[in-house]
Amino acid sequence: MALATRRLQLAQNHLKSLYRESSQHTKDGKRSWHYVAREMGLSVGTAIRVARDSYEPKAPHIRRILNLPVYVTLIACAKCGQVHRLLKKCGDRKSRNYAHIADMPVALLAWKMRNREEML
Ligand SMILES: [Zn+2]
Repeated sequence: MALATRRLQLAQNHLKSLYRESSQHTKDGKRSWHYVAREMGLSVGTAIRVARDSYEPKAPHIRRILNLPVYVTLIACAKCGQVHRLLKKCGDRKSRNYAHIADMPVALLAWKMRNREEML
């Protein structure tokens, strides 16, 4: 099962269990989606749609509340259709040459030393 689907199920289970518990927190002892929404910091509509209809919200702030992975928009290259840095040429980016070893980021330097890559 895809991670996103599994996470959505976990979110649904959490909302449904809050809904079951909600009767202990209402004056009339009835279950309440309003209680669930308040506890989660969601709108009532969103809580119901996610729990009952398997609606998968897109907004990052809602996805974070529900512990769902957040979507980002990536622009595919118009020429090759791949997602890569916007460079003048498509394909693998050539590694950058640093004029002095001290200019090299520490993490990159450490990687190069571990992997015995020539420094310049
Ligand atoms: Zn490209």
